[in-house]
Amino acid sequence: MLIDVHVHTFPDDLAARALKKLVEKTGNFIAPAGDGTNAGLLDAMRRDGIDYAVVCPIATKPAQFDGILTEALAIRDGARGAAAALHLVPFASVHPEDAARFAHLARVAESGLRGIKLHPYYQGCVLDAPPLLEYFRCCRDLDLTVQCHCGFDIGFPFEPVCGPERVARVMREVPGLRFIAAHLGGWRQWGGAAEHLLGKDVYLDTAVLLPHFGDGDARRILREHPADRLLFATDWPWLGFGEGMRFVRSAGLTPGQEKAILGLNAAQLLGITAPAPW
Ligand SMILES: [Zn+2]
Repeated sequence: MLIDVHVHTFPDDLAARALKKLVEKTGNFIAPAGDGTNAGLLDAMRRDGIDYAVVCPIATKPAQFDGILTEALAIRDGARGAAAALHLVPFASVHPEDAARFAHLARVAESGLRGIKLHPYYQGCVLDAPPLLEYFRCCRDLDLTVQCHCGFDIGFPFEPVCGPERVARVMREVPGLRFIAAHLGGWRQWGGAAEHLLGKDVYLDTAVLLPHFGDGDARRILREHPADRLLFATDWPWLGFGEGMRFVRSAGLTPGQEKAILGLNAAQLLGITAPAPW
């Protein structure tokens, strides 16, 4: 079973423009591996035999909550097609400054979605500040998984808002929170991730870009973090599934560890009980 815990899609009429803007924001450092639409995502998943992908929307303003929740439920309930309903695991997004954030988190949980995406750069928050710790306690108590961008963001000047040290503090302050620290615990902050997160009880997703496959610290985390706390991810469309699997398999782990990372851990975390073959 193959599960990617971190992909992004955009509405069909906006996807091309959104991808172009994001690529420009990085000074053309990144090149998408797909077109960023749900259909493009499903095509790529079918080609590479990916059973499930967690779709991660980001509310950049509090008012986007309803639209994002509605779209997530449309995907889950079949309004975006049978393949999307079968293979996509949509998360919701609740802006940390939403005045109704606790009620909205409760609505996400009541709707049956499994988690939320958080992105401190796009949402103007600091990961371990008191308001966020309250937010995370609410997620934990509602049994929502948090999938969170960690480390640098390639589209922004560096701000130390969501690095590995802050992730470690969140895990200390909110024990029992199901937290996925994206990009091996901190994109381009892998030395810090090795220092603060390696071996800890925190899920790290494996999404890194091609130029960083050889980064020594990133590779060390992939090899040495507990294999039951690593989750396959690509950040599609920013990396293809084949490349992402190649990165995981390059670590020289046992076949059992690879299987856990590529899908079984995520299945357990998200309550997925059966593969969804194409
Ligand atoms: Zn992402």
